[in-house]
Amino acid sequence: MSSVNSSSTTRDRLAKQRGIPTRCNCGEAVNRFTSKTIQNPGRLFHCCPLGSQKDKTHLFKWTDKSVVEEIEDFQDLFDVRAGEAMMTRHESRIQEMEDAMCHYEEKTSECIRELRGIKALFVCCLVMVFLYHIYA
Ligand SMILES: [Zn+2]
Repeated sequence: MSSVNSSSTTRDRLAKQRGIPTRCNCGEAVNRFTSKTIQNPGRLFHCCPLGSQKDKTHLFKWTDKSVVEEIEDFQDLFDVRAGEAMMTRHESRIQEMEDAMCHYEEKTSECIRELRGIKALFVCCLVMVFLYHIYA
């Protein structure tokens, strides 16, 4: 595990750990510290108790970067939820419209049946009037 190859894959895995880290790849729980260096005074960071900023095999991560990642991930999650909610709303609207269309289709066929009845009645009346004029 101390070869150059495994240390570079460890670094890749560390790079992929998004958000606020809880555990280093070595298994140690990470703690939050405050930087006392001249370059980053008072800046918060998460660090493996076995690591340091220069030691890339153990976890070292600035907390502000972790927080930005957390917010980004949360926004992604929120966007997905909002999108899903909108889809559900649209689906229910489509269902409502389909139901309404079914209802109007029934109404239309009902109207057509009624019109046919009226037409038959009209023809009957015409025939009766015609017969009345002939035989009266
Ligand atoms: Zn570690």
